[in-house]
Amino acid sequence: MLNNRRRFSLLLAILLLSGFVTTSWLSYRVAHESIETKNSNDAMPLTTDNIYSEIQHDLFKPVFISSLMAQDTFVRDWKLNGENNPKNLIKYLNEIQEKYHTVTSYFISDATRNYYHSKGIIKKISEEDKQDQWYFHVKNLPESVLYEVNVDNDTAGDGQLVVFVNYKVFDYDNNFIGITGVGLALDTVKTLIESYQKKYQRTVFLIDKAGKVTLNGDSFVGSLDIYQRPGIKKYAAHILENPSNSIRYRHSGKTIYLNTRYIEEFNWYLVVKQISDPSEKKLTDTFKINILLSILVTAGVLLIAHFTFNNYQKRLESMATIDKLSGLLNRQAFDSILENNLEQNKRKGNHLSLMLIDIDNFKNINDKFGHLAGDKVIHNVAQICKLHSRDSDSVCRWGGEEFIIMLADTEIGSAVNIAERIQKHLREDDNECAVTVSFGITEYQPNESIVSLFNRVDSALYQAKAKGRNRLEIA
Ligand code: GH3
Ligand code: MG
Ligand code: MG
Repeated sequence: MLNNRRRFSLLLAILLLSGFVTTSWLSYRVAHESIETKNSNDAMPLTTDNIYSEIQHDLFKPVFISSLMAQDTFVRDWKLNGENNPKNLIKYLNEIQEKYHTVTSYFISDATRNYYHSKGIIKKISEEDKQDQWYFHVKNLPESVLYEVNVDNDTAGDGQLVVFVNYKVFDYDNNFIGITGVGLALDTVKTLIESYQKKYQRTVFLIDKAGKVTLNGDSFVGSLDIYQRPGIKKYAAHILENPSNSIRYRHSGKTIYLNTRYIEEFNWYLVVKQISDPSEKKLTDTFKINILLSILVTAGVLLIAHFTFNNYQKRLESMATIDKLSGLLNRQAFDSILENNLEQNKRKGNHLSLMLIDIDNFKNINDKFGHLAGDKVIHNVAQICKLHSRDSDSVCRWGGEEFIIMLADTEIGSAVNIAERIQKHLREDDNECAVTVSFGITEYQPNESIVSLFNRVDSALYQAKAKGRNRLEIA
């Protein structure tokens, strides 16, 4: 029984928990999936578009200024007229720098290799000088490419990192005559990137065609080569092959959303990255709460099942051992109690008495007052027997209107006293259905059988009946 109950409880717990956990998990997965899809398909591309426009707006200005400088007839005429009075060009470069708040502005003449700067002629650039390689690189760009943006140390200034826009300058016959441009302090650009990151709550950086990070915010850590960065490196080639990408991948147990866009003006890629969605945390929290609730509900159900079981079991037990009409032990229960007691008696040698009781002329009661009244009398006599016996005695409805009482650790004398007490109380009952009873009393003899014990008590009762009823006989 106990084993069965354990198995039932276990099965119930498994069923409930697996049901709860499966539904919670499924709804968690569905919600999670929809957040991820929404992020990949809507939120991230939208943010990237916005940042893309802001970058164009903020960073395209130096490209535009450089383009104006390259087209300027003053610059070209001054150059074509022999680069006389450098002061005039220097004044011009100064004006540009002041007006547009750039950190540098310059013109390099291809004929003289003079590096004109807002501060004067700084140097002659040379193919042998490593620092001047950028010039020859830009000069040798394909004809269709008019400028290049790059980040470099400002060797002409204080050496800080500068975003240079190097624009090719042509004469009126489309011959290459030099390079002009302006530079923005990298700090200024970084501040811009920081402001996008803050505004859109995402990581923002730019990479060049080779996958090298060219611009990034202060919080950016790790390698500047996306082929070396864990997670993203798997997608590096894909990012550099497509003008725009929407990538989602798992890294270190987190969902990473990556959106990239090629920025033609710089020949760079904008990368916007987000690690997990804030609403994912809410989802995980809800999932945890659900699991906790499931455990509580399961525990509650198990508790209720446990109490229902106990109650049910008690009722079953009482149904199996208690006589309904009298509320006394039934014959089966009595038999097993008696057997147990006799076993003990054999070992300990205690006394044990047995008392058989039969209502006198009970047929008359039934005949005179009806069967229901007879039942009431049986119940009444049962109560009196129970009331005047001791807790240690076992009182049983033996059948019909007969009762039997087993008195453990009791000598015949005490048994007689109890019988007399019962008799006295019945006598005091002045009900019209008042009855008398006859007793047969005996004490267990060591080593005798149950049958012989019963025979003796039965014959004692028979004697009492024979001798006129309403009396007790001892055998
Ligand atoms: P005696 O003094 O010799 O015992 O006379 P008696 O009339 O009691 O005779 P007996 O014991 O043979 O009869 C018992 C009667 O009790 C027979 C039966 O109709 C009646 N009886 C047995 N069980 C029940 C019961 O559950 N309810 C009622 N109302 N009557 C019962
Ligand atoms: Mg009888
Ligand atoms: Mg009788």
